[in-house]
Amino acid sequence: MATAIALLVLCLPIVTLCYVGFCVVSPWGRCRRCRPDGRNRTCRACDGTGMRPRIGWQLYVHFRRLHRDGTR
Ligand SMILES: [Zn+2]
Repeated sequence: MATAIALLVLCLPIVTLCYVGFCVVSPWGRCRRCRPDGRNRTCRACDGTGMRPRIGWQLYVHFRRLHRDGTR
């Protein structure tokens, strides 16, 4: 059991790093409401662009803004 927990603890930062890298490489994901076309002019979730920022990217933008406001 301890081995499984140790493996999990080891894997978590790796998975997080991979996800962060994934978000940096392609911060924009496809809008889930417009699928499968990827584009719907009346879609409110993405304003008709068919693209939506990923959760990780939104978090990054949020924390960057917090940091900028805090250090000013
Ligand atoms: Zn959409």
